[in-house]
Amino acid sequence: MHELSIASYLLESVEAQAQELGAQRVLAINLVAGERAGIVDDALQFSFDLLTPETLAEGAHINVRRTFMRFHCAPCDCEYSPKVGNFSCPDCGAVGQLTADGTELLIESIEIET
Ligand SMILES: [Zn+2]
Repeated sequence: MHELSIASYLLESVEAQAQELGAQRVLAINLVAGERAGIVDDALQFSFDLLTPETLAEGAHINVRRTFMRFHCAPCDCEYSPKVGNFSCPDCGAVGQLTADGTELLIESIEIET
């Protein structure tokens, strides 16, 4: 299961960070996930909850901030997020240059109790 391996990676990183900060408990994890990273929020939280009993991260809530694919249109000098199946600029119809592919996955911050 995809989410389970991500959850276990998350737990590892978060525990390391929490220990470094001298945390007693991790309250929340703020995650940034691209729309194409394939993260299902509920499945991720569920997997995470399976792994966290008796760890610093027990009961921690995962907040996911979704990011989208972005393109830059040279003629309009603008950035846009394309609609599904249509990668062209909403203003002029040109197909812009891909600047973010929507597959990122990173821990933005964690909230802890010390
Ligand atoms: Zn344009």
